[in-house]
Amino acid sequence: MTEKKPEIIRDPQELQRRLTELRKQGKTIGLVPTMGALHYGHLSLVIAAKEESDISVVSIFVNPTQFAPNEDFDKYPRTLDDDVDLLSQIGVDFIFAPTPEKMYPRGFKSTVQVGGLSEVLEGSFRPTHFNGVTTVVLKLFNITGADFAYFGQKDYQQVAVVKKMVRDLNLPIEIISCPIIREEDGLALSSRNRYLSPTDRKNAIILSQSLQKAEKLIHSGERNAQTVRDEIRRMIETVPNAQIDYIAIVDPDSLIELENIAGNVVILLAVRIGSTRLIDNWIVRPK
Ligand code: AMP
Repeated sequence: MTEKKPEIIRDPQELQRRLTELRKQGKTIGLVPTMGALHYGHLSLVIAAKEESDISVVSIFVNPTQFAPNEDFDKYPRTLDDDVDLLSQIGVDFIFAPTPEKMYPRGFKSTVQVGGLSEVLEGSFRPTHFNGVTTVVLKLFNITGADFAYFGQKDYQQVAVVKKMVRDLNLPIEIISCPIIREEDGLALSSRNRYLSPTDRKNAIILSQSLQKAEKLIHSGERNAQTVRDEIRRMIETVPNAQIDYIAIVDPDSLIELENIAGNVVILLAVRIGSTRLIDNWIVRPK
């Protein structure tokens, strides 16, 4: 890997100026939006961005507007020095690490709302979440003028909502969805995994295990979505302190809940293990 100290920029206008200059020179720009506390899931997006664009930009911003008042904004891990070290090892060009005050100066009043897709699943449990996400993501797109933006399938609904925003608003950017990176035992990497106690960490593999079991059921011919959901629920309920927010089997584009499994589906889970809320998903292509 190339060791290259990224340039850390904290001011949106400064980054906008620098990247406008580079775009004028014909450089393409790849953006990876993150909230920091970086792990290999994030880095896989950064590697993709570096491969496909001349200039790579990683934003690190714990965006207050996508957290509800009862959520973990204050305790969300902030590890900027470690993040910079990791990104130096990969050789990113720019790290954009603004303060909330720079992103939302006094008097900030605008919101981007993607109807429909942002109201189901995560949206029904976290009603203000996606408005916060789409607003900050549009700001990041405008600040960077990126040609490509990289998101993880880990947040399947987020990618769907962002793609819809791009289509609806004719944004000149291509959204690239990258596969979920998992621990060896199947747990999807997440900045929130560090909240898990050792026992909860062990129990957390029930998410990916139940998704794999669901895939097996579908591959062996099960076409009734409720039967598959019931099996996932049964497995998750074997973990004493697991609390299910949702188990959904949906159409990959509309995210509409299905009764019969005819074509490709996405199975999405949100489960609290102890006090840590985890999400995971699996795309299943029936044989
Ligand atoms: P976050 O910092 O959690 O907002 O995540 C920033 C980006 O990294 C999002 O596009 C996530 O979907 C993506 N991401 C997080 N975890 C993973 C993972 N395990 N595999 C792939 N992408 C991920």
